[in-house]
Amino acid sequence: MPNEQERQVLREEVRRAVEAFDGAYWREVDRAAAYPEAFVERLTELGYLAALVPPEYGGAGLGIGEASVILEEIHRSGGNAAACHAQMYTMGTVLRHGSEELKARYLPDIAKGTLRLQAFGVTEPDAGSDTTRISTRATRVGDEYVINGQKTFISRVEFSDLLLLLARSTPAGESEHRTDGLSVFLVDLREAGEGVTWQRIPLMFNHHSYQVFLTDLHVPASGLVGEEGKGFRYIIDGWNAERCLIASEAIGDGRFFVNRAAAYASTRQVFGRMIGENQGVQFPIAAAHAEVEAAALMRDRAAELFDAGRPCGPEANMAKLLASRASRQAGEAAVTAFGGSAFMVENDIERKLRETNLFEVAPVSNNLVLAYLGQNVLGMPRSY
Ligand SMILES: Cc1cc2nc3c(=O)[nH]c(=O)nc-3n(C[C@H](O)[C@H](O)[C@H](O)COP(=O)(O)OP(=O)(O)OC[C@H]3O[C@@H](n4cnc5c(N)ncnc54)[C@H](O)[C@@H]3O)c2cc1C
Repeated sequence: MPNEQERQVLREEVRRAVEAFDGAYWREVDRAAAYPEAFVERLTELGYLAALVPPEYGGAGLGIGEASVILEEIHRSGGNAAACHAQMYTMGTVLRHGSEELKARYLPDIAKGTLRLQAFGVTEPDAGSDTTRISTRATRVGDEYVINGQKTFISRVEFSDLLLLLARSTPAGESEHRTDGLSVFLVDLREAGEGVTWQRIPLMFNHHSYQVFLTDLHVPASGLVGEEGKGFRYIIDGWNAERCLIASEAIGDGRFFVNRAAAYASTRQVFGRMIGENQGVQFPIAAAHAEVEAAALMRDRAAELFDAGRPCGPEANMAKLLASRASRQAGEAAVTAFGGSAFMVENDIERKLRETNLFEVAPVSNNLVLAYLGQNVLGMPRSY
């Protein structure tokens, strides 16, 4: 596991790498609602998107602690990793539960950067927070599965070669437990033909998310990840890593807002003095800074436990909750400091505000995080 000094070196490397993707770059892709291809290509070239792929498959074999640094620095610089972070979110499910054959087939090319595993298909129009209610159906026919159904909010599917898909392999109500009967598939989109089609969903910020239609999609049985019917467990298994990574993006956003607000408050003159001299401007920035840094400590703890192979559900969930709240609080402090200038596109505050709102709801809503803490950690009655 890299030590603190090596992590600092990585942080500085990422900082330098993303310098070229400045506010002007992000404003332009935002305006055009375009996929930030040049940014994704650069991260791929540098191997950052293969950070979690083990060295035996050609990846960097880093941990969640390092992946967190990469995402955090992208966001701290004013960028957005949403165009490519899924390769980190989904990796754990493939590594821990995928067959040797599956890993040998795909991971070396993912590590080389010639193959993208950027799409993750869980959510459906009638099943968001309540994953066990999904109805997309996978039926075994000989040596393959035939999959039919609809997914929604499936990000980056147009820009990915592979899709990690959750589908129901046993009809609802026929399994002993409601969490059984779901299976995970690694779908090769290059071979899917008309079996997978999509339609982009216009969103509050520049993000590529789609309604996905699965129509008699044929997936070879070798595309099944782990055991049939145990897919929900495999997805849950990836949740702690995902929470740490999303917290890192929110922490990066929080630092972006705090740094920008503090700098602006220290130069903008109103009533003959710098606005940062007023405690009504200074204190919200200082308070947001404290919240962001506290969230970062919780994320560090969660990542440390995760990388040591120890349970970290409470810490990972608290990190996601605290970081998503702190980034919005920092955004609010930045609006107070910038005043009308916060609304000017050229200052990037309005764009980052639109982007950071996502962490309240996705990949998991903060209400569900609170329900986990209330029910699973504190033992209070369940709402579901
Ligand atoms: C930009 C974007 C990208 C996304 N990308 C992906 C992706 O790539 N792949 C994918 O599979 N999904 C993706 N999602 C979906 C995301 O994971 C869901 O939006 C999220 O899980 C919440 O589900 P929902 O939107 O259906 O909300 P719902 O489940 O409909 O819930 C609505 C609200 O009710 C609250 N609520 C529900 N039940 C309770 C309860 N018991 N107690 C308290 N509150 C409750 C929720 O917290 C939420 O605030 C994406 C979403 C967005 C917006």
